[in-house]
Amino acid sequence: MLYRALRSLSSYLNKMVPEVVFVLGAPGAGKGTQCSLISKEYGFVHLSAGDLLREERQRPGSEYGEMIEQCIRNGEIVPVEVTCSLLHKAMQKSGQTRFLVDGFPRNKDNLEGWTREMADKTKLLFVLFFECSKDLCTERCLGRGAAGSGRSDDNLESLMKRFNTYLNDTMPIIEHYEKQGLVRKINAEVAPDQVFEEVKKAFNQCGLEKLNN
Ligand code: UDP
Ligand code: MG
Repeated sequence: MLYRALRSLSSYLNKMVPEVVFVLGAPGAGKGTQCSLISKEYGFVHLSAGDLLREERQRPGSEYGEMIEQCIRNGEIVPVEVTCSLLHKAMQKSGQTRFLVDGFPRNKDNLEGWTREMADKTKLLFVLFFECSKDLCTERCLGRGAAGSGRSDDNLESLMKRFNTYLNDTMPIIEHYEKQGLVRKINAEVAPDQVFEEVKKAFNQCGLEKLNN
């Protein structure tokens, strides 16, 4: 009797714990594109750390605006206190329980900050890692810039810096999760719908169901 009550209480509490999938990969690997497809099919809320930072940069009166712009232009990583609090607020505001956290955690500071503030409040399901060559990523980002992305970092100079940060700071984070068996590696050099086929396998393997629409 008590056991049953405890079990249903624990399953109730489990359902309340927000579930998170981290989405990582080089700049231009296609994280954003795949996240919109995933959010449509699986009902996850797409939270792009980069988009949240760009929004905060534009917010009138933000004390972080200039610092964020400097980091973005130089391909450096914003201190985790800022990014983590934006992510946390967006999660709370959504009122939802399943999240794609796109472009985070990108370095040791990000990982430590998340572990400190959020790891106990959330359940990390897995890490989607989009693998794509530097040449192809550069071509995509420059194309995106030329097509009018309006991003202050889609130029060759910023891109070189973003890539260095990715190799030096983000790859070790991916390796950290790989050791825990949490990484689902996806070839991101093919067309978006082909990439999505592989993404679906990762979600289905985790027992996540598609929405019925
Ligand atoms: N950024 C950051 N912390 C994050 C995510 C992004 O500081 O957690 C900054 C960083 O300067 C990065 C830029 O925002 O180079 C753009 O990130 P975004 O994820 O939008 O770029 P993408 O990889 O999608 O091209
Ligand atoms: Mg992006």
